[in-house]
Amino acid sequence: MAKYSNQKNKIVEEEIAEAAQEIKNGNLVLFPTETVYGIGANALDEVAVKKIFKAKGRAGDNPLIVHVCNIEMVENIVKEITDVERKLIEKFWPGPLTIIFDRKSEKIIPNAVTANLNTVGIRMPSNKIAKKLIEKAGVPIAAPSANVSGRPSGTKVEDIIEELQDKVSYILDGGFSDIGLESTVIKVSNNQINILRPGKITKEELEKVINNVCIDTHVLGKVEKNEKVASPGMKYRHYAPNTKCMMVYSKNNQKMVDKINDITKKMYEDNKNILVLGRKDNLEEYISQKKWNIGENLNEIAKNIFTLLRKVDKENVDLVIIEGVGEKGLGLAITNRLIRACEYNYIVLD
Ligand code: AMP
Ligand code: MG
Repeated sequence: MAKYSNQKNKIVEEEIAEAAQEIKNGNLVLFPTETVYGIGANALDEVAVKKIFKAKGRAGDNPLIVHVCNIEMVENIVKEITDVERKLIEKFWPGPLTIIFDRKSEKIIPNAVTANLNTVGIRMPSNKIAKKLIEKAGVPIAAPSANVSGRPSGTKVEDIIEELQDKVSYILDGGFSDIGLESTVIKVSNNQINILRPGKITKEELEKVINNVCIDTHVLGKVEKNEKVASPGMKYRHYAPNTKCMMVYSKNNQKMVDKINDITKKMYEDNKNILVLGRKDNLEEYISQKKWNIGENLNEIAKNIFTLLRKVDKENVDLVIIEGVGEKGLGLAITNRLIRACEYNYIVLD
């Protein structure tokens, strides 16, 4: 059983130091970041890193993000930091942006972290507990999202403690994650930024650094069997509850509400049960008996979505219908997670 440390009300440095010692000893620590919780191990220790894959049941070809607390740690791992990458670092670090670099040929970062790729994804978290943990460990920390593979990412310790407490040595509880969605993952090549996974740092914000940003086709498109992808994580079943889910979206709010009510009506005729997840302002329009508020704006929806997706299986319904949010700004990241949670079962109307 893992040691548990409540850091919610007050940061207890001695306990973060104990957790850092577990990292140095080659063990796993569950820790908060501003995006979602992570399961961390010493990124320089191949044996420790392999424990993460075992704990999560994660496919060995899905690389991990390396978390650092200073630029020296990055310089020690990567071949070079280009001018554009430096600009991005200055603007967005510490924060929810992961940059994919070419790794040094000496392979200081073991193959288990990068899934044998010659690149490595790195991010500097802004969460104070995460920052202290890395500082005290004195090594970069490889950490994927804290969840058994395929499940929604953990944004609260209460949601994940059952599935992970026997798999880690230490739990640092920092309360509800600020952002609630994983980092934006990008790769820069030929002065162009390619978004491999959308997150809190939006396309629009990246365009302010260089006006040449594209979105990888697999961010919204389905990955076909055996298709090569820029970010291996995009291949896998992700974020999905066991209950069947469907996303419905239209720019025209009334059209979206009407469509969701149509589907509900048909399901009721077949004696099926429905749960609708919608914006607060729409809830009273839904005929569904079960309906949950997902938030009032994109920031709130991003923060709530994983914890809500984790709860739907307890409701015993036949279908969960989730309002879509469009692709503008943070909407792209939310849509990317929703269509995976729905296993590509979605309807988009004009
Ligand atoms: P997670 O750890 O659950 O936040 O997932 C990390 C994501 O970053 C996955 O989608 C990975 O495919 C992606 N990623 C990590 N390292 C690399 C890399 N070197 N090249 C491309 N994608 C990466
Ligand atoms: Mg994940």
